[in-house]
Amino acid sequence: MKKQRPGIFSRLPFALRRLMNERICDVLEKLGASSARNPIKRHVENLYEELHDAGVKHLRPDVYLGDEWFSPGGIPAIAVPFYLAHTDLKEIEFLVTNSIEGGTPAAMRKLLRHEAGHSFDHGYKIARDLRWRNTFGRAPSIYRPEVYMPDSTSLNHVKHLPDHYAQSHPDEDFAETFAVAITPGLDWESRYAGRSAVLGKLHYVQSLIRRHGSQRPRERDIVRTYDARRLRMTLARYYDLRLAREARWQRMQSRLVEA
Ligand SMILES: [Zn+2]
Repeated sequence: MKKQRPGIFSRLPFALRRLMNERICDVLEKLGASSARNPIKRHVENLYEELHDAGVKHLRPDVYLGDEWFSPGGIPAIAVPFYLAHTDLKEIEFLVTNSIEGGTPAAMRKLLRHEAGHSFDHGYKIARDLRWRNTFGRAPSIYRPEVYMPDSTSLNHVKHLPDHYAQSHPDEDFAETFAVAITPGLDWESRYAGRSAVLGKLHYVQSLIRRHGSQRPRERDIVRTYDARRLRMTLARYYDLRLAREARWQRMQSRLVEA
């Protein structure tokens, strides 16, 4: 096992530092953070209402605690990072990484809408037919939305998550467009007026919602990939691996900018 780099966790108060050597599954159990009473629940209920009001009557993505934000491939489910389930874990996340993705109610709701877009895609097995490819583009062979070079002047993408995330990959563009389409009270026709590429994407997503909205999802088997309640690595190991991975993406990103 890799030796812990000194200093990474030194900013943590003693009580939190002690948790770092425990397994994630045990920490969640100990903090009572894996139960349905956790602070994410009300946001999930809210998402279900938003989906229903947007015309998606039968899709209720299975939301569970995972190791990060994602929707498991092919499955109508949403993994929410486990650190959002308890204030102690949120504090650790902030002190170790300097940010908390989804740490405010507004950010949490935006991320849930985005992941609901992937869940819709997976649940209804949306075909990558000619119209899909003409609208969102052809997917590159490697799925790595963490490394991309956005064009901040682009008029072809919705803006929903930070950093022009819709530009990171056609599948992310789809999820971002879906998120905008189901955002309550958002008059996207006006917001994106005159931007035909964006309106084309939104109208396409809307047509998919109309087509599938009153059907039950075709994919109903749920597999909870990276279920945090089963993660046996320690918190320290988790952050060690994550920081190393994010530093690698950062280097790839820098090379992309320099190229
Ligand atoms: Zn995504």
